[in-house]
Amino acid sequence: MPNRQRLPYPTAEHLPDAPSLSVQDVSVRYNGTVALESVSFVVNPGERVAVVGPNGAGKSTLFQVIAGTLKPNEGSIRIFGNPPGGHICIGYVPQRNQIDWSFPVAVSDVVMMGRSGKIGLFKWPRKQDWTLVETSLQQVGMVELAKRQIGELSGGQQQRVFLARALAQEAEILLLDEPLSGLDTPSQENLLDILDSLRDQGITILVATHDLDQAASHFDKMMLLNRRLIAFGQPDEVYTSANLVRTYGGHLHVLPGEDGSDEQLLLADTCCDGDQ
Ligand code: ADP
Repeated sequence: MPNRQRLPYPTAEHLPDAPSLSVQDVSVRYNGTVALESVSFVVNPGERVAVVGPNGAGKSTLFQVIAGTLKPNEGSIRIFGNPPGGHICIGYVPQRNQIDWSFPVAVSDVVMMGRSGKIGLFKWPRKQDWTLVETSLQQVGMVELAKRQIGELSGGQQQRVFLARALAQEAEILLLDEPLSGLDTPSQENLLDILDSLRDQGITILVATHDLDQAASHFDKMMLLNRRLIAFGQPDEVYTSANLVRTYGGHLHVLPGEDGSDEQLLLADTCCDGDQ
């Protein structure tokens, strides 16, 4: 069983020219259940990666070992050249169903929580911290709702608040665990547009998603994961029938093309905990 870890602050130094993220031969087992097996890849600063795979493929586990909240059984992880833990440069947004939305807290306070690592324990936010909170809310189009209770917002708005929290944290790596799940199409497009707008800031982004087409069209790289790393690279290289069959196995049905030509793939039963 991997150990849960507390995140120490402040953040570790970044090594010059190091990739944002280097994962080497990482394996994770929960009481004998293999969640990740010998997973290796490198992500460079500013790259945007869609992590795709069926339920139970190890996507959340991967994000937790990168965030440093879970220690892998084997392998090593480097964040800008340093071991995990001690990195407030990582903004981790868990799945929506992992968050208690009834907790009575205002939007601006949720975003200010992103500053806690920079402000330090037992210290009050300064004016520049509140300015950064406002700028972050502006970036996600939520400044008008700053005083609202978080539980009163729609799913898409809640995701934007958590994105603003990561921006206020001045995160350089964003890990977003299924942020699009359960959102209607306009809200999904809105969130993807916001992620696009972060490209210029050089923020490295990993997004777990079930939507293969969105993954292929909105991200620089696509990772197909099913405990093992099936494929990782540019979408036109990764998004192939052969790789999908290797990733989804029994969830994938191969049908003949309409005129008997190219085969068609039909994906079933991949999603989600009743929220899509
Ligand atoms: P995904 O995010 O792709 O759905 P997860 O990382 O949540 O996959 O899960 C990978 C595997 O590890 C699954 O078989 C899941 O049941 C198992 N698992 C995840 N978290 C735990 C846990 N805390 N205890 C035991 N098994 C777990």
